[in-house]
Formats: sequence, structure tokens, C-alpha cells
Amino acid sequence: MAKSDLRRRGITDAGVLAAMSSVPREQFVPPDVTNFAYDDRPLPIGEGQTISQPYVVALMAQASRVTTTNRVLEIGTGSGYGAAILSRVADVVVSVERHETLANTARKALTAAGYENVTVIHGDGTLGHPEAAPYDAIVVTAGGPKVPKPLIEQLGDGGFLVMPVGPDNQTQSLIRIKRAGSELHEQNLGRVRFVPLIGAEA
Ligand code: SAH
Repeated sequence: MAKSDLRRRGITDAGVLAAMSSVPREQFVPPDVTNFAYDDRPLPIGEGQTISQPYVVALMAQASRVTTTNRVLEIGTGSGYGAAILSRVADVVVSVERHETLANTARKALTAAGYENVTVIHGDGTLGHPEAAPYDAIVVTAGGPKVPKPLIEQLGDGGFLVMPVGPDNQTQSLIRIKRAGSELHEQNLGRVRFVPLIGAEA
């Protein structure tokens, strides 16, 4: 997706724009849909899941305020594309995926693209990944009725968590939570549509 289109739609973070230009999306989509890799829409990646629309990936990366010294947790690796974008703006990225086949494919794609600061973990992301907590930012790329409690607990002071929250996949809002000590400040960034978050704390 062209930088000018992203800018026009409100993506102004220089790091995010640079990442969107440098990460080859075609390396993160299955061979049968590479022709559509640069369309601004989600695409099927198997297991009934999708690689997110580029604009939404950029929006979430920008909304989470990730910077080059940050440790970031992503829930829902999917294709690995979102993790790749985050890896260009963060110091380290831990990404959790519940489908083992997707986790393996994403890990391979990230390695092939040379993004060495991403660790893909096969597991239930609603539990987060306490081993590497706290995180400066947490990006959840699947939607649910509430933010899983373990993720709030693993968000560091001053950190931002971004997640689509809503009762079903027709009516979700992109929610941003900022932690300031023991206080949580919540903001609604507008309507989005994501596949469901499925897990113990979903
Ligand atoms: N960031 C991805 C978007 C993938 S769609 C990309 O850029 O391609 C959301 C993903 O979340 C799906 O792959 C789905 O399997 C995964 N998911 C859903 N619930 C999950 C959970 N509890 N833990 C980890 N992954 C989950």
C-alpha cells in the first residue's frame, strides 16, 4: 500500500510508514494469493484465518506507540506480517499463535525475510507470555468481548495495549488502554472487524 494512501488515512508515524514500505507482504501470503498481496484487504492464510488488511496493521502499530527500544507482545501471529511490521519499529517482538501450522509457517517466513528479533510461540495468547513480561506494548489482532486479564497484568507502566473489543465480529471497536501505574486509561479508536480471539481467557 502506497505511503501517500496511508498518510491520507492518518498514518503519520515515520517508523510505521518506513516499515510498511520495507516489509514484503507477498512473502507472508500463501502462493495462491500472491497476486493480491498488495491489495488493501485481508486475505485467506488457511485454518479459516486471514492476514490483516495493511492499513489496519499500520493503524495498530501506530496506535500502540511502539518505539525502537520497546519490547512488544503480539497476540495472533497469523501470517507473521503484523509481527514483521512491529519488528521494524520495536526492539523485540514476541508473537503468540494458537494454530501450530500457522505459527510454523509464520516463523519460517519471518526467518526467510531476515527478521531475527521476533519470537513466534505456539500457544494460547489469551494467557499472554508471562516469561518475557512486562511489555511496553501489546497488540491483539483478534477480537473478543473483553481484554483478557493476563494481558493487562503483563502490560508495563506507561505501556499501551491495542485490541478489537466487541460482542461479535460485526461490532468491534479498536480499544487502546494505557497503563499509568495502577490506573488504566481507555480510548476508543473506531470501528474495526477482526476474526475472533479463541482461548481460556477470551
Ligand atoms: N497479525 C496477523 C493477523 C492474523 S488474524 C497477520 O498479520 O497475519 C488473527 C490470528 O489470531 C489468527 O491467526 C488466529 O488463529 C489467532 N488467534 C485467535 N485466538 C488466539 C489466541 N487465543 N491465541 C493466539 N492466537 C489466536
